[in-house]
Amino acid sequence: MARLLDAKCRQCRREGCKLFLKGERCTTKKCSVERRPAVPGQHGEGRKKVTQYGTQLREKQKMKRAYGILEKQFREYYEKAEKMKGIVGENMLSLIERRLDNVVYRMGIGASRAECRQIVSHGHITVNNKNVNIPSYSVKVGDVITIKENKQELEMFKSLKGMKMVMPKWVEFNAETLTGKVLALPKREDIDMNISEHLIIELYSR
Ligand code: SF4
Repeated sequence: MARLLDAKCRQCRREGCKLFLKGERCTTKKCSVERRPAVPGQHGEGRKKVTQYGTQLREKQKMKRAYGILEKQFREYYEKAEKMKGIVGENMLSLIERRLDNVVYRMGIGASRAECRQIVSHGHITVNNKNVNIPSYSVKVGDVITIKENKQELEMFKSLKGMKMVMPKWVEFNAETLTGKVLALPKREDIDMNISEHLIIELYSR
């Protein structure tokens, strides 16, 4: 399975903002964006002038990196969003939010999207009582997402029991039964990402 291999903190520094790729570390003073905010590389400090194309490209890279998606699949989301009713950028964001790895992340099962991607691909999750190990699986309203019964005793899941979790209103997760549900499809206002999706659409429409 292809994936992004750049060092995680380096990706954040390149985009000049926190992408929360490393879980708990991201909220501590150890975060590299806080310690070394400059763009990585020899000419990092000197890169000042950004063209319109450059701004659009950076926005796309930022979103791809935040969700851990490669170019081909990312473009497929755009093409699908274009065919849907409504605002293309918002459709695209909503489609990406519905990925199973992201939903598992939003429910608080893992500390980062990368960890949740692994939780899914290692077969720890069921959707409506069926094994699903595809991180890009798109959830629907009413889908019931559960940590497999025979995996619930793993340390990483045991520690979730009884925890109070903060999550967006379109999902719910019961930390006792380790089961969650998709209550609605995510809307733009439900997605707390610092992303200007219209710039990405402008880039693809060139
Ligand atoms: Fe990004 Fe997290 Fe590294 Fe900070 S600690 S730079 S938010 S991956």
